[in-house]
Amino acid sequence: PPFPIRLSGPIVEGFGRGSAELGIPTANIPIAGLSVGGNEDVESGVYYGWAGVDVDDSGKRIEGENGGRKGGVWGMVMSIGWNPYYKNEKRSVEVHILHTFPHNFYGARMNLLICGFIRPEYDYVSKESLIEDIRVDIEVGRRSLEREAYLKLKGERYLMEFQ
Ligand code: ADP
Ligand code: MG
Repeated sequence: PPFPIRLSGPIVEGFGRGSAELGIPTANIPIAGLSVGGNEDVESGVYYGWAGVDVDDSGKRIEGENGGRKGGVWGMVMSIGWNPYYKNEKRSVEVHILHTFPHNFYGARMNLLICGFIRPEYDYVSKESLIEDIRVDIEVGRRSLEREAYLKLKGERYLMEFQ
């Protein structure tokens, strides 16, 4: 499907590896979210874009007026794939938000606007080389999102529409 690709879902628990082993937390959402927009054919790999989450800057859930939810929009770098390094049996969607949150926010709602592709999924011989590549991905994503065409997408209403 053409960019931007929309994908949303609740943040669920993964294997707890992002922070503990890699030092890079990734908010996981169910892969089922991909099929909602007819996006089953999204290629595995690393992407960048925007994430709307119904939490504040500290990661705390916030309730809007009349039951609606409020939240923030941050840049993100995400992977869709099998995580060959970890030999997973199901594809997963993992999102690293380009912001430091003091709190976890499992159960929060996340709306993703995927703006572009960074690279295909590789297997790694070592954890160090995996971490090194993720660092590069984060830099590529951060700099791409500074471009005017992508900055404009940050304002899409969809990002802040939490059911
Ligand atoms: P899990 O395997 O359960 O996904 P992680 O170690 O990858 O565990 O941590 C992910 C959790 O950390 C997210 O679900 C979220 O609640 C929290 N978190 C804190 N900061 C971030 C961030 N910058 N990006 C993504 N998730 C974050
Ligand atoms: Mg994770």
